[in-house]
Amino acid sequence: MSQPNRFNPIILLFLTFLLVVAGCREEIDSDHDGSIKESSPELRVLLFEGEGPLVVSVPDGAVIRNDDGEAIYTVPPRYDLVFRQGESGGLLVNGEWLSKRRVTIIPKDGGDEPPRLLVAGSPYRGSLLVRSTEAGSLQFINRIATEDYLRGVLPRETFASWPADALRAQAVVSRSYALARYAEEPKAIYHLHADISSQVYGGYFSEDPRTDAAIKETGGEVLAADGRIITTFFHSTCGGHTAAIDDVWLDAERRPFFSGVECPWCVDSTNHDWTLTVGYDDVYRALATGGYLTAPFIGLQPKTNSRTGRVRSVVFITEGGGSVEVSGNELRRLLGYSELKSTRFSFTASGDNLIFTGEGYGHGVGLCQWGSRGMAAADYGYKEILNYYYPGAGIAQWSAIAPVSLGE
Ligand SMILES: [Zn+2]
Repeated sequence: MSQPNRFNPIILLFLTFLLVVAGCREEIDSDHDGSIKESSPELRVLLFEGEGPLVVSVPDGAVIRNDDGEAIYTVPPRYDLVFRQGESGGLLVNGEWLSKRRVTIIPKDGGDEPPRLLVAGSPYRGSLLVRSTEAGSLQFINRIATEDYLRGVLPRETFASWPADALRAQAVVSRSYALARYAEEPKAIYHLHADISSQVYGGYFSEDPRTDAAIKETGGEVLAADGRIITTFFHSTCGGHTAAIDDVWLDAERRPFFSGVECPWCVDSTNHDWTLTVGYDDVYRALATGGYLTAPFIGLQPKTNSRTGRVRSVVFITEGGGSVEVSGNELRRLLGYSELKSTRFSFTASGDNLIFTGEGYGHGVGLCQWGSRGMAAADYGYKEILNYYYPGAGIAQWSAIAPVSLGE
């Protein structure tokens, strides 16, 4: 690549003058009033946080706006912007001081395909907020319209080859999840992570015409109850019964749509049944690392919700007669979420090992994705699928419930 990677200060000074005179303003923190009901919200998705440096490319050029919304630079085409944090905590770009805290990069022709904003080589729609934190890191936050965000989520959270109604169900679920997070704090620095801690978001590279169609066909639809968009948890495979939310997060409030339903639909999942063999020593080490035990345990007893089949917690008995209770979900974290695949398990002792026999993969709350696939293959529509896995929740246009859910 022969792209220049440094600003020409003279060109920039000139362009800065022109742009400041033009007096453009951005809307970063001045939206979320009446106008928000007319169009889908702009989400802020954290793509990266770290020390940097990180390269942002704008093949057609871009405008950089400061925290007050003023256009401070025009970036000519084919420039790479290399961001670092300066010693004083300010933002440096290509070695030059840029801003005290944050800027927004708005690519030229950003609405066209393909998008003209590349973050560490990956293309994204929308614009990019670059922020220097007080903790000493850089944050790169994609500002993107909800429906465009979903285009980068669905192919990563489901399989584009699945039946259309399973994709439509996922579109409504992922839209609801994102907008519920948004509604919690519309003015948050960011609303969502780009990984499994929210929903996996891969930007433009992930998009697929089949999932795009599902998003379009369910345009604006969300799951709601009591006038609020619900945080639509979902998981890969329930293994026979979805979880009550308080099976997993013990102090969560159990609502009808998070009470758990029987699911005969996910039998085709490769994770429907599994076993895991772990040495006692390894279990002890994991619990000790987690700060739960200081001496090996001599026995253990599960507490299981007999209706959902979910282990809510396991009581570990220690030699002196003491006991420590660890939630099933926490045990999954300690042993590895991809090892102890769900809390729908039982176990037996065998020599120096514990043998877990389990069903399903994931926390088990809300939509069972493989179950949704099974229902769609049996010709159920996406609304029937959603009514099944979230009983008591309704499907509505997000804009119809926004005034309540946005907490205004
Ligand atoms: Zn299932």
